[in-house]
Amino acid sequence: MGDNMQQVDLKTVFTSSNVMQNEPLGNYTNTKTGGPADWLAFPKTRSEVAKFVDFARIHELPLTVIGNASNLIVRDGGIRGLVLILTEMKAISVSGNTVTADAGAALIETTEVAYQHQLTGFEFAAGIPGSVGGAVFMNAGAYGGEVKDIVSSVDVLTRSGEFVTYQASDMEFGYRHSLVQTTGDIVLGASFTLTPGIAEDIRARMDDLNARRAAKQPLELPSCGSVFKRPEGYYAGKLITDSELRGYTSGGAQVSTKHAGFIVNIGSATATDYLAVIAHVQATVLAKFGVHLETEVRIIGED
Ligand SMILES: Cc1cc2nc3c(=O)[nH]c(=O)nc-3n(C[C@H](O)[C@H](O)[C@H](O)COP(=O)(O)OP(=O)(O)OC[C@H]3O[C@@H](n4cnc5c(N)ncnc54)[C@H](O)[C@@H]3O)c2cc1C
Repeated sequence: MGDNMQQVDLKTVFTSSNVMQNEPLGNYTNTKTGGPADWLAFPKTRSEVAKFVDFARIHELPLTVIGNASNLIVRDGGIRGLVLILTEMKAISVSGNTVTADAGAALIETTEVAYQHQLTGFEFAAGIPGSVGGAVFMNAGAYGGEVKDIVSSVDVLTRSGEFVTYQASDMEFGYRHSLVQTTGDIVLGASFTLTPGIAEDIRARMDDLNARRAAKQPLELPSCGSVFKRPEGYYAGKLITDSELRGYTSGGAQVSTKHAGFIVNIGSATATDYLAVIAHVQATVLAKFGVHLETEVRIIGED
């Protein structure tokens, strides 16, 4: 860090963004684990985000941007510098067949708006508990659909403070991959081009997918969704089950007995517990099947 940031009180610099100091991120992550952010803020507008980015750059303050923290493990040492959570930027609008949403809009809410406007194509995401920004970053997908199938453009702020609009073809989407994972650009919003459909059919598809999700996934417990990417030619959950790791527990983190691809917080798990379970699962599956399970969940912060 360039300046002694402990002496600069960001609460007095940014009065309208609910700035907190030394705030535990376990209060925000889906796993309910994670250490503190030195500074945490909730910008409400794109220009507020830009002001934070400029401030962080000028003061050489590390800057981390997160959405709904549903695909995230924050190590117990927390995150140095400034963390922005974008969930206060959540407008959704519709024009013709296009749904445009701010980065912090809930993906689930965005699919509901598409349904209300009788637009089809977004149903696959009806139960994905992320934000629009996180879904673009991850190219989130389920049940045969992916963000890349419907996104038309993405507005970002670069780390040098420039507003840029990418077309979908610029975004280098792949399996749980997008361009912004390599550039560090901050997603501010995205537009999705959908197709006119029949409201009852759209509702039926969303309800069906959510029922299938509820039947298979441990939604009653905190988790970060599928922990591992699907390895080529295999299913992570089956490899874990066949390694007899269902129910494997370290501290308060447990391989779900309902869906072995999930690790649930069964009590007072720490991020360290999560990482211990992940390491044990990876080592066991590698030894038994020779397959390396790469994490889908993003792991950030300090030990
Ligand atoms: C019960 C459950 C079920 C799930 N099911 C699915 C599923 O079916 N399919 C699927 O793909 N995922 C699934 N997930 C994982 C998760 O919901 C998705 O990956 C989602 O897209 C993450 O969005 P988020 O806002 O929570 O991102 P976060 O967890 O907040 O962040 C994830 C990554 O994106 C980055 N990021 C977030 N927002 C921005 C932004 N605005 N600009 C730049 N970078 C950003 C963060 O830095 C981080 O590296 C599931 C999770 C849970 C808990």
